Amino acid sequence: MRTIGHFVGGQPLSKTVRTSDVYDPNTGTVQAIVELGDAALVDEAVCNAAAAQIGWAATNPQRRARVLFEFKRLLERDMDSLAYLLSSEHGKVIADAKGDIQRGLEVVEFACGIPHLLKGEYTQGAGPGIDVYSMRQPLGVVAGITPFNFPAMIPMWMFAPALACGNAFILKPSERDPSVPVRLAELLIEAGLPAGVLNVVQGDKTVVDAILDHPAIRAVSFVGSSDIAQYVYAKGAQNGKRMQCMGGAKNHGIVLPDADLDQAVNDIMGAAYGSAGERCMALPVVVPVGDKTADALRDRLLASIDGLRVGISTDAEAQYGPVVSAAHKARIESYIQMGVDEGAELVRDGRGFALQGHESGYFLGPTLFDRVTPDMKSYQDEIFGPVLQMVRADSFEAALDLPSRHAYGNGVAIFTRNGDYARQFADRVDVGMVGINVPIPVPVAYHSFGGWKRSGFGDLNQYGTDGVRFYTKVKTVTQRWPASVAGGAVAPDQSFVIPTMN
Ligand code: NAD
Repeated sequence: MRTIGHFVGGQPLSKTVRTSDVYDPNTGTVQAIVELGDAALVDEAVCNAAAAQIGWAATNPQRRARVLFEFKRLLERDMDSLAYLLSSEHGKVIADAKGDIQRGLEVVEFACGIPHLLKGEYTQGAGPGIDVYSMRQPLGVVAGITPFNFPAMIPMWMFAPALACGNAFILKPSERDPSVPVRLAELLIEAGLPAGVLNVVQGDKTVVDAILDHPAIRAVSFVGSSDIAQYVYAKGAQNGKRMQCMGGAKNHGIVLPDADLDQAVNDIMGAAYGSAGERCMALPVVVPVGDKTADALRDRLLASIDGLRVGISTDAEAQYGPVVSAAHKARIESYIQMGVDEGAELVRDGRGFALQGHESGYFLGPTLFDRVTPDMKSYQDEIFGPVLQMVRADSFEAALDLPSRHAYGNGVAIFTRNGDYARQFADRVDVGMVGINVPIPVPVAYHSFGGWKRSGFGDLNQYGTDGVRFYTKVKTVTQRWPASVAGGAVAPDQSFVIPTMN
């Protein structure tokens, strides 16, 4: 049996304390075991990181960027093998696995611009003979804790800007698909990153708590479900760390009567069922405005659903593959039953779907509910599976209210041809990322990613210039030099009053 270990001090490290099984979701069999670290291992990784960070921070930003340029080339070289490895543990289809890697790679591309991004601010003559300048310095050792659903993209969201800024990084990936993060660490070494600057410690809550308690870790970025995000945020902040914690989601797609319905259906299908719905920017709720729109949308959705192909992750024709685990499959099925019990109309039931030859895989067919209402728990909770819920609204205002009042506020989309409605919607909706005729509005790498309400705890978003802010601290220098030439600075008389510009 293959064992997946840690990566510390520039090399693989095996320290078996406890282990966890890693499944192939296509077959439901254990394909590897992953070692789970502990506080001692976190400390060992932090010691390596702290020692390596000094030299890395002293390396000029252009040279740090060159390592990232080379890392990007290696990611492109190994795209196929990385995608296969990723989908074998996660279950997403190969094309989608490549998208996972590509979206991370785009953040690496952004981070290659770090010499420009780190330029500070300067004010000449802020006072008599006084100049002021600000510079951004790395925090030191920082950490990232990532979820199972994007095992390549989300680690890169975090470590690309962190490393570019001159930090050393401790990555704690999901224990459910832990192989790709180790491969990324190996590629960084091949790209020229000094040993110890990026370390991977596999594990579960024990390692997360050790990271949050370690005094030398200055900042922690977390992405995962909301209850855990809130716990991690509170514990890390209590320990004086800078925190950014992204949580779960329940994103709505609003369909106005004037929308291009064929386009909207195409978009909603991909966003609801792609990756088996295991995306924090999936669209699991569709809100048609008016019964006429709802009926037309439902007919078109059904036609698409009935033609949808579910297959193993290496099936090039499949639109989506299995969900990640047996436990997650059972959880999704229990939410489908909950929807039925709560009185929603089950139009298509994905339970009981079996793929010939892969009967033990974690497959679910596409599920569609109609006449879902906001009081239902199955609407309020994140299901994170191939389940689309239709909530009918009778007006634009009612449709706008639904995502605004929902506890989650990650993403939202509106489908319309009317610019005025679209503009008002984007302005007023209480959600962090908005798509206008764009179903999955994940911002490009040079903007930044972050949800509101229970979808995000902390002030700064992932990547973009927010990423640079998160992984740096500002130092401001106010300087005056003794006069050596005529017209130079004249030292003021002794004063016991706070200096002002008067
Ligand atoms: P999860 O919360 O179960 O796990 C996330 C991380 O936390 C993992 O590394 C895990 O090992 C660790 N963890 C698990 N239990 C813990 C505990 N009790 N204490 C401390 N740490 C713990 O999430 P997941 O199932 O891996 O990922 C899916 C979730 O992530 C969904 O809710 C999804 O919406 C969310 N997500 C959010 C975003 C975003 O940017 N907002 C992006 C991707 C995924």
